[in-house]
Amino acid sequence: MWRLNLIKEIADQANWIISSDVGIVIADKYPKAQHHYLVLPKSEISSIFELTREHLPLLEELHLLASNIVEVRGLQWADFKVGFHAEPSMERLHLHVISQDFVSPALKHKKHWNCFNTQLFVPYAVLHDKLKAENSFQRLPPHVRHSLLATPLLCNQCDFKPKYFPELKEHLAEHLQKKST
Ligand code: AMP
Ligand code: ZN
Repeated sequence: MWRLNLIKEIADQANWIISSDVGIVIADKYPKAQHHYLVLPKSEISSIFELTREHLPLLEELHLLASNIVEVRGLQWADFKVGFHAEPSMERLHLHVISQDFVSPALKHKKHWNCFNTQLFVPYAVLHDKLKAENSFQRLPPHVRHSLLATPLLCNQCDFKPKYFPELKEHLAEHLQKKST
């Protein structure tokens, strides 16, 4: 079952980039940006929907691993988005640590973009606050999810509104090029 592939991945310690007593960092196999890592707990937590206030210390440890991987790679924390998908597709809870360039061949659809650049992406701090206040994180109603997936494209670095996805891809590549020159 492809839903369980992350669990298979962490079963092999060769895939661990860094780890702690409670968590593991692996590379995302289909990176949606220049740098894309996943932080997973060692304990068997399937998804964000299982989390309660009791998991806050664990979440804080996972967040620490997120900052560690950025530091170990010599990258800038401010260049990253760190959070969870509101509607994850794969098991074992995983925290995305992704650079905000979004320049990658694996970023193929508007859906990919909107999963990281609308409320379908739940920043770490938002989840943390929600658990603290409400003791759980609820699934989005399907109609909300569908409308977020259909959100018109908007660049994350300027106010450009590309009409078509390939235009966004080209535009993001230009942002990255400007940054590196
Ligand atoms: P989500 O939508 O939050 O469940 O994201 C699952 C993430 O896992 C995606 O970013 C995929 O690119 C990534 N992924 C899928 N299969 C693997 C794998 N075998 N190893 C590492 N990452 C994977
Ligand atoms: Zn732009």
